[in-house]
Amino acid sequence: MPDTHGVVATPPIIDPFGRAITYLRVSVTDRCDLRCVYCMAENMTFLPKPEVLRLEELERVCAAFVRQGVRKLRITGGEPLVRRDIITLFNRLGAMLGHGLDELTLTTNGNHLDRLAEPLARAGVRRVNVSMDTLSPERFTQITRWGRLDRTQAGIFAAKAAGLAIKINAVALKGVNEDEMDQMVAWCGEHGFDLCLIETMPMGEITGDRNDQYLPLSVVRSRLRRSWTLAPTTYATGGPARYYDVAETGQRIGFITPMTHNFCESCNRVRLTCTGTLFMCLGQNDAADLRAVLRSTDDDRVLDAAIQEAIARKPKGHDFIIDRRQSGAAVPRHMSVTGG
Ligand code: SAM
Repeated sequence: MPDTHGVVATPPIIDPFGRAITYLRVSVTDRCDLRCVYCMAENMTFLPKPEVLRLEELERVCAAFVRQGVRKLRITGGEPLVRRDIITLFNRLGAMLGHGLDELTLTTNGNHLDRLAEPLARAGVRRVNVSMDTLSPERFTQITRWGRLDRTQAGIFAAKAAGLAIKINAVALKGVNEDEMDQMVAWCGEHGFDLCLIETMPMGEITGDRNDQYLPLSVVRSRLRRSWTLAPTTYATGGPARYYDVAETGQRIGFITPMTHNFCESCNRVRLTCTGTLFMCLGQNDAADLRAVLRSTDDDRVLDAAIQEAIARKPKGHDFIIDRRQSGAAVPRHMSVTGG
């Protein structure tokens, strides 16, 4: 029986490699109010508005995925919280919780959380990932170009006050924040946050050479072990991170290592860009144009069929390589387009 949202939870779609697709990441805008050096060039040209999915289209396509077995939605960007009426979208998606959807979450730079943490919590969000690569105000502004650490941290604490569980995302950058990893673990432990470290991925043209930024997390982990007791855990959030318990803080630390460890075997994810393009793999270029389907018919059976057809083409995995011969991007689109 369809519920009030027309959503009937069914078993998930299984891809050709036997993986159940239960997790959709949705980028709701390519725009961002920061310009992190590893993510974007300073002068970015953003998409004209008509190319970006309207709120109703985003809701309709999310409902189609939930109807077909997706149980977790992560809203991302660009910066999702710069989109006008974003809370309206969260309210509508939140209404799917308990009707096929288990979790609604987001990844944000934290800049607007002071204002929006409460409404997000009311919409049904329980956890939030906030990106913060350093604890130094000067470095923070160097990395983000336009950001201020105190503003991001105000957002983080507003989210904590609103009762949201917080995970801090930090990209590990050679020669930039690698000397701060112990402090980051301690700070997160002190405030009750999990920490997730991410390797830089070769996505989109940026200013400078990516080889200069790449720091393997295997190195970071061995260094952390000098100060912290890291015990592997089976904890999983449905995402690609491998988690360890940090005995001294009681919090967890996750490592996302697309470069040193191929995390594709257990991939349960697909990603929708803000223009309605569905990427079946973060690191491959094959995609399906769901916007064309959304705008050509109101028949949800056609939309469902297009989603099934796309997932039937999900590749086995990606092969990012950063080496000295290739300093550019392995994938031409920025992370802000596909959604981190
Ligand atoms: N604006 C939001 C934020 O700051 O979290 C959401 C979008 S952002 C693209 C999502 C995550 O991707 C952030 O944690 C960011 O640090 C990470 N990211 C961006 N470009 C990356 C790259 N080339 N390699 C690894 N992580 C990247």
